[in-house]
Amino acid sequence: MRDALVVGGVDSGEADRVVHLLTGDGRLAVFAPNAKKSRRRFAGALEPFTTIAIQLGPQRRRAGMPTLSDASVVRSRLALRRGLDTIALGSYFAELGFRTAPEGQPTEVGRWVAEGWDALETAPGTRQLRRAFELKLMSELGYHPELAVCVACGVPPSTAHLDLVRGGLLCPIHRGVAPEVGPKTLAWLRAVLDAPNLDPAPGVDDDWAARAAAKLTGPLSAFWSGLLSRPLNATALLASVDL
Ligand SMILES: [Zn+2]
Repeated sequence: MRDALVVGGVDSGEADRVVHLLTGDGRLAVFAPNAKKSRRRFAGALEPFTTIAIQLGPQRRRAGMPTLSDASVVRSRLALRRGLDTIALGSYFAELGFRTAPEGQPTEVGRWVAEGWDALETAPGTRQLRRAFELKLMSELGYHPELAVCVACGVPPSTAHLDLVRGGLLCPIHRGVAPEVGPKTLAWLRAVLDAPNLDPAPGVDDDWAARAAAKLTGPLSAFWSGLLSRPLNATALLASVDL
């Protein structure tokens, strides 16, 4: 048995379901026979936001993926279903994590999704939590932004401009169309990336974190739309709750 996060899935035929999981080895799609027809068979273990312990059976030739032979709930996180904000952000973490995670190699993408979900059990969905998650994920995927020197000339900039598609800070000479970011936004950005856990307001008050997160909307949106081949389904839901 090993742990996996249930991030979603699609029905397959009359009775079966393909379940999308994140594990310590990245994204994994498994074939769950009879999961749709008999809800008792997996007893709530295949609901989104759940951490489950899984047992895999042999690969099905037709489905081209391993069979889920057993699954039991480790942590259900039912509290995430209490509001549209927590559902929207929890779904976004799931979809973004699944879409960007590698397949069959060690990764902490699942860890950050789980931390995001854990936070939403007790806190509302906020823009700062969304942006903090995105920064941790970026870094995990190998896109840790350069925040000390200009990525074009290597000189510490007098005023900082941020372009996450180009990899981080830019000086006034090389800024192009990158927006300027103030010292407080930069401090929040560094603190989030340095924090050992997912913390939307590390060492700063919540208003500060909220303002910094709002400033990063443009640079982070540009980064994800450059990385993803098609938009995420969860984005519309996020927009409907102003996140
Ligand atoms: Zn420069």
